[in-house]
Amino acid sequence: MELELSQIYTCPYCQMETPHYLLVRREKRVGIACSRCQTTSLVDADELENHQTWWEEELRQILSSLEEHDFDDQH
Ligand SMILES: [Zn+2]
Repeated sequence: MELELSQIYTCPYCQMETPHYLLVRREKRVGIACSRCQTTSLVDADELENHQTWWEEELRQILSSLEEHDFDDQH
């Protein structure tokens, strides 16, 4: 089984958004492990997907605000 390193989730140990390895998926429950501290979390698949969507939106806003700052610096 191939390990995915694509799930962003709030690690209870690191207390921040970290990439998680996808360990197991059984219907609606997903087992993931933090890539930093190896803490495993058992989460709802829908919750994980929602979090991923939220994170991608958050990231997009951070990136666009950085671009705006770059633009301001040039003036
Ligand atoms: Zn962690």
